[in-house]
Amino acid sequence: MARRKKIYEGKAKTLYEGPEPGTLIQYFKDDATAFNAEKRATIEGKGVLNNRLSEFFMNGLTAIGVPNHFIKRLNMREQLIRQCEIIPLEVIVRNFAAGSMAKRLGLEEGMRLPRPIIEFSYKDDALGDPLVPEEYIIAFGWASQQDLDDIVALALRVNDFMSGVMYGVGIKLIDFKIEIGRVWDGDFMRLIVADEISPDSCRLWDIESGQKLDKDVFRRDLGSLTDAYSEVARRLGVLPTNGPIGDKPTLIN
Ligand code: ADP
Ligand code: MG
Repeated sequence: MARRKKIYEGKAKTLYEGPEPGTLIQYFKDDATAFNAEKRATIEGKGVLNNRLSEFFMNGLTAIGVPNHFIKRLNMREQLIRQCEIIPLEVIVRNFAAGSMAKRLGLEEGMRLPRPIIEFSYKDDALGDPLVPEEYIIAFGWASQQDLDDIVALALRVNDFMSGVMYGVGIKLIDFKIEIGRVWDGDFMRLIVADEISPDSCRLWDIESGQKLDKDVFRRDLGSLTDAYSEVARRLGVLPTNGPIGDKPTLIN
């Protein structure tokens, strides 16, 4: 069988060379990691669900005019994406206190923040993705002030879209993380939403019960992660149609 060139293997996804220049194939693995990869597991079906859910959210963003890397889904675990130059930041948007912010400030998890708060961490596994002020980002040249203004505007649009979509199915968007990449049309550089949007990268709480439907289920041993992600997919009307979850991936060439 023809093998594709592997470009990068990360913790949750593998990137392969795409069929055309400027494209990549993003393969969603079943691997889950937390606490900077100190905790690891393989969770049958997670990759299938995240592939579907990221497709769903990215398509929604396209529909409302938020530029992103998604081109099309290829099969159960793979999607074709536009290759971009990833800005080495995790862009985190918070609506309610949770996780590291709650810990840092001694806030009760679930407390509504006065307004959405955006923070940045530097993407570096060895350093544990440390929180960085805008001053660092500009001084080290990871992004310019203009880029940061554009990134904040993009992140807030994603937040409003995701909050609304989730609210419609009885889920509260506590916080999420996105990655942003640069693409060039000739000399003109644009910023687009890249990587993935899935329950791996969001905190999602059921509005009624407060039940967690995101990766905290894995981080905190709260039950079955696939059940939680399947519940999100079911509510959104997004469920795999090509066979049972956990089906072996189909290789394309
Ligand atoms: P990591 O362990 O580094 O988080 P993942 O398992 O999430 O990696 O794999 C995805 C990798 O691909 C990440 O490093 C992410 O920054 C990168 N990536 C995501 N979307 C794109 C894109 N459109 N173009 C290039 N790189 C991308
Ligand atoms: Mg990642």
